[in-house]
Amino acid sequence: MLGLTALLLATTGLSTASADSSPPQEERPFIMPFAGPPGPDTWFFLQAYGNTTFAYRFRNNVYYGGQGLHFGLDLAAPCGTPVRAIGDGVVFSVDSWHGAGPHNLLINHSNGYASFYGHLLVRSRMKIGQKVVAGEVVALSGDPDRTCISRPHIHLEIRDSETHAYGYNPLNLIEADWERLALIGAEPIRFEMDMENPRRWTDLFEQPETRFGHPLVNDYASPWPFDW
Ligand SMILES: [Zn+2]
Repeated sequence: MLGLTALLLATTGLSTASADSSPPQEERPFIMPFAGPPGPDTWFFLQAYGNTTFAYRFRNNVYYGGQGLHFGLDLAAPCGTPVRAIGDGVVFSVDSWHGAGPHNLLINHSNGYASFYGHLLVRSRMKIGQKVVAGEVVALSGDPDRTCISRPHIHLEIRDSETHAYGYNPLNLIEADWERLALIGAEPIRFEMDMENPRRWTDLFEQPETRFGHPLVNDYASPWPFDW
């Protein structure tokens, strides 16, 4: 199976990881951080990774360090929902400077990726250096506003495990039916358009990788929707 996929990739010159430079994947290596089915009282897809309208709106402040991109995936869930490790790994940091408060957790995986879980309810009980297995409960979901009624959700990033300086589209790395998941939620999943190149970065899966600390990639002269 893997051999055939590799052969097809070699033949076509295409990468399964879309047009960015994220490491090529034969299949999506990670699982969902929430167990059980999606729904209005369990969890649902809230904001995609990449050039979202929300990230564009806040590109000069909240998302400036991530090139104007929403450099993670938002999943809404009631506060206290158990958060699972998306793959086997080792805890790298607990409540680090990486943001996404009030609490966060970073796990390194052996496949070259790291997963970062933000907007956690309380400090994770995990210790730095502790091994975790895929599906193990490592944290509880929270709310960045600490109210648990305004916008309870987790912010999940996938970065490289070496430097944590690059962010990748979790939709290409977590096994799920993302197109169906994108159909439900509080509001539609929307991307900002550059009217000089209106199709670019408006797809769930075809989004640029994030190079943290590098310049904005979406400071458009002709944006749609219009700037706020
Ligand atoms: Zn987020």
